[in-house]
Amino acid sequence: MPEAPIPHAYFQKQFMPLAEAKIGIMTHAFNYGTGVFEGIRGNWNDAEQQIYLFRLKEHFDRLRKSCRIMRIEFEYSNEELQSIITKLVEMSGYREDVYIRPLAYKSSEVLGVRLHDLDDDFLMFIAPFGPYLDIEKGARCCTSSWRRVEDTAIPARAKITGIYANSALAKTEAQLNGFDEAIMLDERGHVSEGSGENIFVVDGDRLITPPPSSNILVGITRETVIILAREEMGMETVERDIDRSELYAAEECFMTGTAAHVTPVVELDHRPIGNSKAGPVSKRLMQLYFDVITARNSKYASWCTPCYSKVKA
Ligand code: PMP
Repeated sequence: MPEAPIPHAYFQKQFMPLAEAKIGIMTHAFNYGTGVFEGIRGNWNDAEQQIYLFRLKEHFDRLRKSCRIMRIEFEYSNEELQSIITKLVEMSGYREDVYIRPLAYKSSEVLGVRLHDLDDDFLMFIAPFGPYLDIEKGARCCTSSWRRVEDTAIPARAKITGIYANSALAKTEAQLNGFDEAIMLDERGHVSEGSGENIFVVDGDRLITPPPSSNILVGITRETVIILAREEMGMETVERDIDRSELYAAEECFMTGTAAHVTPVVELDHRPIGNSKAGPVSKRLMQLYFDVITARNSKYASWCTPCYSKVKA
């Protein structure tokens, strides 16, 4: 582990300092959004002086599905990917929370919109990454005037770089209007998701969340919360269409995502949700989630992959 962190990248099958990893300006994915990616958190455990990567298998499996949808050839096995990502973290030397971005993309430097007859490549880079939304205060949200992309336009179940134009339109509109995050509806007017988060509502002793057919990215944090709620709190999750007004009337609402963790939604369209603070269910889930992602809960240790081989005693 170096003294001061030096961010590295895995690029064109080699490890190098991030500053040296550059693509050409004609790269297809840069011009047309023809890349697919993952966002993986490495969570710093200070007591153990260790970074734990969360649910690698699920991230790699989703990346492979995204590649299939976008006809990107992807030759790496999960074992190879795990070896690349842990090496990347170790050689970068961070002692804080990090974010790793694996990205498979159309790498040909040619003009022409298509997915076929193009070269594919794969890269990975790391960046330090603290909190994304204010988890303590919770998020003040608005319903976006932008609709979530439909499966018939760009499939949201694939994490496609080009899809994030949809998310960016919604996020900027929300922030410039003084909100923290946007909640997008699908074309039928049902709640879909945030610009980078899935959504849950607390309804008595169960959770409700939109199904994949509401054009959501099927989040790994979403699945984690569904499991933790069931296993640790005895709360089942119902996947069904949610109306906008159900969020207004909800006892509690929260968002989930690798970047956002579990973030309470405390206000929507100038209406307080609950008492404008994180409710008891959200709080309990946040606590459980943090223990799990930092490998402090041995029951879920198999979800956490350590990176540093030489850990200080
Ligand atoms: N929806 C969108 C649009 C996202 O970008 C993300 C973040 N990857 C999520 C949901 C949450 O997914 P995950 O929990 O796998 O990070």
